Amino acid sequence: MNQTPLMFAATCDIAGKVRGKAFPAEDTQRRLRRGVGWTPTNVQITCFDTISESPFGALGDLLLIPDETTGVEASFGDTVERFMLGDIVTLEGEPWSLCTRAVLKSALARLERLAGVQLIAAFEHEFQLRGEPMLLNQAYGREGFELERTLCETLISLIEGAGLKPDSIMKEYGGNQYEVVIGPEKGVRSADAAVILRELTRSAARHLGKAATFTPIRDVASVGNGVHIHMSFVDANGDPKTYDADGPCGMSKLTSAFSAGVLKYLDSIIALTAPSVISYERLTPHRWSAAYNNLGYRDREASLRVCPVTAKDPESIARQFNIEYRAADAAACPHLALAAIVHAGAQGIEEGLEAPAPTEEDLSVLPPEELKKRGFVRLPTTLEEALERFAGNKVASGWFGEKFTQVYLAHKKGEIAQVADLDVAARCAAYEATY
Ligand code: GLU
Ligand code: MG
Repeated sequence: MNQTPLMFAATCDIAGKVRGKAFPAEDTQRRLRRGVGWTPTNVQITCFDTISESPFGALGDLLLIPDETTGVEASFGDTVERFMLGDIVTLEGEPWSLCTRAVLKSALARLERLAGVQLIAAFEHEFQLRGEPMLLNQAYGREGFELERTLCETLISLIEGAGLKPDSIMKEYGGNQYEVVIGPEKGVRSADAAVILRELTRSAARHLGKAATFTPIRDVASVGNGVHIHMSFVDANGDPKTYDADGPCGMSKLTSAFSAGVLKYLDSIIALTAPSVISYERLTPHRWSAAYNNLGYRDREASLRVCPVTAKDPESIARQFNIEYRAADAAACPHLALAAIVHAGAQGIEEGLEAPAPTEEDLSVLPPEELKKRGFVRLPTTLEEALERFAGNKVASGWFGEKFTQVYLAHKKGEIAQVADLDVAARCAAYEATY
């Protein structure tokens, strides 16, 4: 049987799903210029394949132009999977306002304009294997790791093959839960890397007869699958700008203002970083995720955390120093989640904010009036509430523009309706099957 090698041109869309079209791989050079046709209403396909109300209807045409720098070729014996992420542009070649890569590029450009820095980000992902007997009593366990050594080694090899930097992989705390961490990348590439990592994890599992899910939470009696985003800044010369030995918790003025912006706007951007109905089952106290808009110094219950550094000399400390956003999950397109965080941080810089002191106690036991007095906000507890805060905060929704906001809200309304009549276990099952 003859087979023609195909290249899959893809976009990670506002549903956080990777969709696209394939063409003969030998046409790649031509397709890098001409792209493949794309349909505006595709943006309203939810993670459940329903189509939310679309302002475009059956009208319009776009192009999805693959970007060579994102090319992946993953070999599984006789099968080779090839894909490239791309940009959605209008027929005139302008960035499309709902292209997630374009949204991130414009957030990064704003940060660079304002502060003269580029963002470096590294994503940590947790995932679970579905359908196996649930592996228990193996939190960080060697046996739990050995049982999936083949999957872990396959995945790390694929990550290296894709030109990314594997950091570590382990059996995480939850039943059948694993965590894979990749090294930092600059700008848009960091979000591209997160998409590639998710795809390679799913592919590796699939070729080994398994199925991996990045769903935010599988079982509310257990822990969730988080996406933790580590961020630092470099200037035009590549010099680190995140750290200042004399700053609060080691933060430079820039980091402090960026962090303060993220915390100030956190309740309004969470609809983009934790965008599924069940994301809010994960964002509850004592799951080591995030429940309040607090800064933590090495504290894993904080939504934004100043991370420890292992380096000893000042130059290496300055390079390693980073802050970690913990209120994200893999229902979010990495580009959109990062764009929301970067805009909030840039807003903090623009407003000249300063980061609050880190919390060192369990905020969930404080009475509401005490929280209020100290400026802490319980993050939205439902997707509906999160969307209301996004739409209601004209500064935050303004970063994305009217069209994006209108489409995003309609998209999520359709998604919410799809699981509205289900109990929480059935909701988790529905999301587990799509992420
Ligand atoms: N599973 C936790 C989450 O949902 C994170 C645990 C950890 O600190 O790695 O974010
Ligand atoms: Mg973890």
